[in-house]
Amino acid sequence: MANIIQAVRGMNDLLPDQTSTWQAVESIIKTTLSEYAYKEIRLPLLEKTTLFSRSIGGATDIVEKEMYTFADRNGDNLTLRPEGTAGCVRAGIQNGLFHNQTQRLWYTGPMFRHERPQKGRYRQFYQTGVECFGFDGPDIDCELIALSARIWRKLGLDNVKLELNSLGSIESRTAYIKVLTAYLSDNTDELDEDSKRRLKSNPLRVLDSKNPDMQNIIERAPKLIDYLDSASLEHFNQLKKMLTSHEIEFHINPRLVRGLDYYSRTVFEWTTDQLGAQGAICAGGRFDGLVAQLGGKQVPAVGFAMGLERIIELVKINGSTMLSGHIDIYMCLLGNEAKKTGMLLAEKLRDKSLSVLAHCGDGSIKSQLKQADKSGAKVALILGEDEVGSGKIIIKPLREKKSQYSVDQKDIFSHLLP
Ligand code: ATP
Ligand code: MG
Repeated sequence: MANIIQAVRGMNDLLPDQTSTWQAVESIIKTTLSEYAYKEIRLPLLEKTTLFSRSIGGATDIVEKEMYTFADRNGDNLTLRPEGTAGCVRAGIQNGLFHNQTQRLWYTGPMFRHERPQKGRYRQFYQTGVECFGFDGPDIDCELIALSARIWRKLGLDNVKLELNSLGSIESRTAYIKVLTAYLSDNTDELDEDSKRRLKSNPLRVLDSKNPDMQNIIERAPKLIDYLDSASLEHFNQLKKMLTSHEIEFHINPRLVRGLDYYSRTVFEWTTDQLGAQGAICAGGRFDGLVAQLGGKQVPAVGFAMGLERIIELVKINGSTMLSGHIDIYMCLLGNEAKKTGMLLAEKLRDKSLSVLAHCGDGSIKSQLKQADKSGAKVALILGEDEVGSGKIIIKPLREKKSQYSVDQKDIFSHLLP
């Protein structure tokens, strides 16, 4: 087939055999969020480009090279959102959500980054993000981490690790950046090209390098944690205590700096070694300065975003079977009269919340039963001309060794419902 139109590179179709897992994972995440009384916010996919350059920071990977930016028909500069925090803060300021009130919000949907596509890294990918506003203590940081830990438990993921660090206040970080810059400048011969560039534009990001050749110099670098201001250190110590009392294991990673400019104090990442190089499944932290930076008043904030593709890949590896889509009944229908009766009966079964796949089109009983088996349904119901005449229907269990039997159509519910 020449000239067939293909999807944009790095943008995937989620096919029907994948979507039941997606739905199950999304539903577990949503249920958990409502157990913590978080509320959904729905945000535009497009925002003004300046929103992202002003919040994420000019010298970050996202703003430097990953954004899908274009001028629309009016010449306005717009960007497909690369992440959700900036839009969420913008919406909160614009709609007065931060006036004398706290917020616990979540959103979900596609994000767009022009990265090199590879396993676990796409140009359109899905995140569920959570953002809390108006809380400055470590208690909310702990709540967010406990919430994410609960999601992993429910999904059956026990091979995940929590990495934790504190970036301190803007002032203490600025002081640290001076020390780090001096150290890196004394060792420029060990820096790769990327890091040389970052040393000038955003030295903290050098610590974030994934280049194995850079690990030695990074390992020896002065540690941010030794330069924390006393209030940030106290916040960090409190958080560690709370996590311990929640029995949530954590690993301090002094090199965890996160790629975005707006973070302060707590930062964390949930990682796994089961996904190869793309091991971060969830990342977040505090961004106490962002609301004011975007024109609102000073409002403390903390949040995280989970990468759904990576989480779903992990769910598949860990073989969670509860997450596959299910059908209760496959209804085999032979002949026009059977179809009329059967489709109405299927409606009544759906009224009782059973999921029913009614056979459409023709097909012998043999081929219909084959499809019934393939569908994963627990039972087949068979309705032919004889059954229509006698008011009966045949029940054929598909997943247990039990032969088929015939019952009155009007009694069908008592045979199928617990
Ligand atoms: P990475 O270091 O893997 O590039 P990041 O720091 O850029 O991640 P965040 O912006 O913090 O990622 O996004 C939060 C989560 O979203 C990540 O932990 C990851 O699970 C997921 N994610 C980020 N970028 C992509 C992508 N291009 N494709 C798929 N998932 C992604
Ligand atoms: Mg990235």
